[in-house]
Amino acid sequence: MIPVTGHQSPVTAFIALGSNLRDPQAQVRSGLRALARLPQTRLVRESSLYRNPPVGFREQPDFVNAVAQIETRLAPRALLGELLAIERAHDRIRDFANAPRTLDLDIVLYGDRVVHEPGLTIPHARMEERAFVLVPLAEIAPAAVVPGRGRVGDLAAKLDATGLVRLPDTVKSDV
Ligand code: ADP
Ligand code: MG
Repeated sequence: MIPVTGHQSPVTAFIALGSNLRDPQAQVRSGLRALARLPQTRLVRESSLYRNPPVGFREQPDFVNAVAQIETRLAPRALLGELLAIERAHDRIRDFANAPRTLDLDIVLYGDRVVHEPGLTIPHARMEERAFVLVPLAEIAPAAVVPGRGRVGDLAAKLDATGLVRLPDTVKSDV
């Protein structure tokens, strides 16, 4: 029997989290806790938190970013739906591209799957040029492969990570 909402076996996926409003570190940590509570999903590992100057629209506060590794039986669409619900629960207002946000959750990788559907692109579009995604991802999974692109560690090493500051673990655990 094929399950409606999930996979037979768990898939390793990576979720990028970002926030630059209302205590961004607390928002990201709260997002990590929300990931740990998702149905049919286990939070396996989380990166350090990183502070990062805004990209695109620059007149806004710095971002805090992190990446989480999960193991999930949720299909990509179902997972996206859960992430959008977490964003809504954190009062995310969709304003304009690159606008300040309380919490942004993106599916970076979903196993070795390539998805190109309206409203869902995996691997996440633009991840290769984003140090704030690839550097935390390389911290927890340097050997992970971006389909058609290569290893995460190699891709991260090519990026200019100027401005990206890894926050001390004492900050991370000081919830
Ligand atoms: P961004 O994350 O690029 O700054 P948004 O979070 O505002 O922008 O974009 C939200 C939309 O992007 C979502 O409604 C979702 O449909 C779409 N989207 C496409 N691919 C992905 C993905 N891999 N992960 C999360 N959202 C995605
Ligand atoms: Mg997003």
